[in-house]
Amino acid sequence: MRTQIAIIGGGPSGLLLSQLLHRAGIDTVVIERRSRDYVLSRIRAGVLESGSLDMLRQAGVAERALAEGYPHDGTYLACRNEGFRIDFVKKTGKQVMIYGQTEMTRDLYAARDAMGGAVIEEAEGVTIHDADSEAPYVTWVKDGTEHRLDCDFVAGCDGFHGVSRKTIPDSVLREYERVYPFGWLGILSETPPVSEELIYAQHARGFALCSMRNANLSRYYVQVPLTDTVEQWDDATFWDELKRRIPEDAADSIVTGPSIEKSIAPLRSFVAEPMRWGRLFLVGDAAHIVPPTGAKGLNLAVSDVHYLYEGLVQHYAGDDEGIDRYSEKALARVWKAERFSWTLTRMTHLFPSLSAFDQRMQEAELDYLKTSDAARYSFAENYVGLPF
Ligand SMILES: Cc1cc2nc3c(=O)[nH]c(=O)nc-3n(C[C@H](O)[C@H](O)[C@H](O)COP(=O)(O)OP(=O)(O)OC[C@H]3O[C@@H](n4cnc5c(N)ncnc54)[C@H](O)[C@@H]3O)c2cc1C
Repeated sequence: MRTQIAIIGGGPSGLLLSQLLHRAGIDTVVIERRSRDYVLSRIRAGVLESGSLDMLRQAGVAERALAEGYPHDGTYLACRNEGFRIDFVKKTGKQVMIYGQTEMTRDLYAARDAMGGAVIEEAEGVTIHDADSEAPYVTWVKDGTEHRLDCDFVAGCDGFHGVSRKTIPDSVLREYERVYPFGWLGILSETPPVSEELIYAQHARGFALCSMRNANLSRYYVQVPLTDTVEQWDDATFWDELKRRIPEDAADSIVTGPSIEKSIAPLRSFVAEPMRWGRLFLVGDAAHIVPPTGAKGLNLAVSDVHYLYEGLVQHYAGDDEGIDRYSEKALARVWKAERFSWTLTRMTHLFPSLSAFDQRMQEAELDYLKTSDAARYSFAENYVGLPF
């Protein structure tokens, strides 16, 4: 079998890249380790930057996001029970859109089906060969039979635990990492959100976030030690803890209910450089991870797709400048988003090692954000997404 671009991973970055390339007349095959049902059962990101929405428009898959998503003009931050709002539209003229990653992935699969594109599901033992040569190829096993796909390029869209990054030799790859000493316990509940906009709450007991997916589906999180397990947190304990950490008016009005999903996600900042090795490109979580504070993970995957898509279209038109500068362009934006997520995490979470001085610094940073127009502008600019 032969294609122009072999795409490893059928998550949002792989599917979006394949959809854009298809519209540009470039052939792709998507190779995914899991079943589609499994991919579509994962509850992950929920906030789309305006640039990400533009990319969905460009890919012809924005219709449902625009009809069913919830545009947000701002967000709330809370510190010691006092909340304040940052207005994105006033500061930047832009909004963000609440639309679940699961729904976005569903739309991309539907588009892929409509164009008759190949997605190989449940591919085992995916291996990338000769990525540093002129003739790379990918092999995998499905239903006991080994398959081979020859291609011009490989797009490694297979997430943090995929094979693509591991294919790059240690002598080439540099990795930068910060692992945080806590995680986020998240629940999904079929209840109306407590606030029309997100609430990021800093509290002496730890961080909390009130988020949502739609008018009757709420997503709430509390910071927990990494040693905690989901079994330790029954629903009543979760709601009690959340109420303690958010401003009183929100705690008084919150509607609670049974959780329909509950999980603990560890927090990590991670970047691998470079994002290209020979004819292999790393895209999205395969190359970088951010803590979910500030909702940058999915949006960074989309901006990587933008740079790679433009580069590949240029390549097939006879110009290699775009693919040659892919890693440099993508990383410039990645590091700025890493900085924002790290700053917001540091500003709002309870770190076990926090000294009295550090604590005062944290309070001063939040107070600065609350009282300075320039600080709020900077926050809003980063939150709605830096330009591609
Ligand atoms: C639990 C969790 C919660 C998150 N919450 C948020 C959030 O609230 N906000 C936010 O902005 N971001 C969040 N993120 C991050 C966001 O979901 C990711 O940034 C986004 O999914 C990146 O998309 P991707 O396509 O690059 O990678 P992924 O979504 O990880 O997709 C990679 C795909 O590759 C497949 N794959 C893996 N290995 C192989 C292989 N060997 N062969 C073939 N296929 C393979 C996987 O099955 C998967 O389908 C969260 C992530 C996790 C894990």
